[in-house]
Amino acid sequence: MAVFMILFFGPDLLASATTQHIDYSTLLTRVQAHQVRTVSVGSDGTITGTLTKGARFTTQAPLWALTTGDLASRLENDGVQVSAYQQSDTLRQLIVSLLPTLLFLGAAVWIGRRMQGGLTGGGSGGLGGLLRTKGRVTDAERPATRFTDVAGYEGIKQEIREVVDYLQRPDRYRRAGARGPRGVLLMGPPGTGKTLLARAVAGEARVPFFAMEGSAFVEMFVGLGASRVRDLFAQARQAAPAIIFVDEIDAIGGRRGVGAVAGHDEHEQTLNQLLAEMDGFSGDSSVVVLANTNRPEVLDPALLRPGRFDRQVQVPLPALADRERILYVHARDKCLATDVNLSKIARATPGFSGADLANLVNEAALRAARADRDELSAADFDQARDRLVLGQRDESSVLLPTEQRTVAVHESGHALVAALAPNADPVAKVTILPSGMALGVTHQLPEDERRLYNEAYLTDSLAVRLAGRAAELVVFGQASTGAGDDLAGATRLAVRMVREFGLSDRLGPVAYPVPSSTYLDAEAPDRPYAEATQRMVDHEVARLLRTAEQHAIDLLQRHRRALDELTGRLLEEETVDGQAVYEIAGRPATPTTLVPKEAS
Ligand code: ADP
Ligand code: MG
Ligand code: ZN
Repeated sequence: MAVFMILFFGPDLLASATTQHIDYSTLLTRVQAHQVRTVSVGSDGTITGTLTKGARFTTQAPLWALTTGDLASRLENDGVQVSAYQQSDTLRQLIVSLLPTLLFLGAAVWIGRRMQGGLTGGGSGGLGGLLRTKGRVTDAERPATRFTDVAGYEGIKQEIREVVDYLQRPDRYRRAGARGPRGVLLMGPPGTGKTLLARAVAGEARVPFFAMEGSAFVEMFVGLGASRVRDLFAQARQAAPAIIFVDEIDAIGGRRGVGAVAGHDEHEQTLNQLLAEMDGFSGDSSVVVLANTNRPEVLDPALLRPGRFDRQVQVPLPALADRERILYVHARDKCLATDVNLSKIARATPGFSGADLANLVNEAALRAARADRDELSAADFDQARDRLVLGQRDESSVLLPTEQRTVAVHESGHALVAALAPNADPVAKVTILPSGMALGVTHQLPEDERRLYNEAYLTDSLAVRLAGRAAELVVFGQASTGAGDDLAGATRLAVRMVREFGLSDRLGPVAYPVPSSTYLDAEAPDRPYAEATQRMVDHEVARLLRTAEQHAIDLLQRHRRALDELTGRLLEEETVDGQAVYEIAGRPATPTTLVPKEAS
């Protein structure tokens, strides 16, 4: 194109650069002065010519000059050589006017090519590629994640392995007349390794793996989401046997039909397409959909029926043994000091998810790095855990001495009652170092992981919560504002005991649970009972709390000396571990209290 343009326009450009523009009158004077050698007159009145000195000029003659013969006679008189030409620039003008369009088309084709290259797996190219699925085929670049990177969860891995096995050896299943699974839905709290499991499947399965985020289907344009779903499945079917993985499927799989809002149409179309695609397979299809969510309760029921996601796998928070394995996996590439005992750390981290544990190990490594050490010590892990459980230490907040004494009395109360009450969780550590919002913390550790709590445990735990305030009452004769959170927590527990667990004699075995979602505890106001019942609930809650407080006060009054001793010790050392609390209380320590002792 460039060569063509130079050849076409070059001479003209060159000429116009060396040509002087003059006006008609100047031309006439030059003619009179015998300075003009040649002129060439175009049919539109354009005159170009050369002067006797050789310089080129151009001018535009007025029309009357051409028709009246005035110019002609002057030129003749002077003996100027005259020629004429017909203006025939239509071809050139056509090209000039088409040039921008041509350039634009060229650019469009070029961009289209680039797009096609960028979207892997897209069948057709060009601008149509924009509408293609953004699904990623992890066939070529397989993730390095393997099942061994996912610690624990053997049952779940087994379940998923079976799916992969089915895709790789379908005859085995066909011979037995078994129909393979079509969809596997992993559900569980955030951070339990659902995405990690899927990545491991992609790494291990020797079949094409299409990964897509649920949110990638959500589009501004109605119908695009549905077309993405269609494309994704079409691609997968072409590559069958294959696995489709949809991360966070709740982005598209939400319940249909209630409360039409803007953007609802798009959502429904996408979901309907997904439902149709999942069911549209022929009987022996070998495309399996793997999906995960941490909000199964919002999913459309149609999605969960057999034939679509016929396998629903719960991925719970890891239990003790699994926590240890997860810690091990994450500590694999780190250098641990000999005093680090991963199983003890696992015991000290109930309720931690896999992601929390990974974070814990990383936090410990950060501490070691800050101290310029290669080895992670037990103290690193202990401080990392404290930071995650109790929040960041705030050394800048300084308490008045009287405040500090109040906090010490308050925390001593919690710790002592926890140590004295037979059914409470053992004390692990008590501190009056402020951290986060709390001025002091008493950390209890459950002896084992419990799923069931009996009444004795709950009443003792009420007493422990109220014990901070009780200690203030015993020592100072008045309570402080520091007990606000304790009271709120205790009240919440007491309300649930009365309303949900049937632990009140007056109300009897009735339950009015607050409906809440499975994993996210949203509180919905709901009161399906009479005003009189509410009064009784309030009354019973107050009674439970009073009894618990009285119990705590009695315990502390009976062990007043221990209370004062622990207070003094706290004021002196700021942090006292569980074992010392039990010594002061004069009771044998339970085995778990040894855990944090070692760690600190
Ligand atoms: P989610 O269930 O929310 O998808 P992820 O799979 O993204 O959670 O897990 C987050 C991180 O937590 C992982 O990258 C990994 O480091 C860690 N993790 C979670 N569970 C495990 C496990 N069982 N084994 C090893 N690491 C785990
Ligand atoms: Mg995830
Ligand atoms: Zn308290």
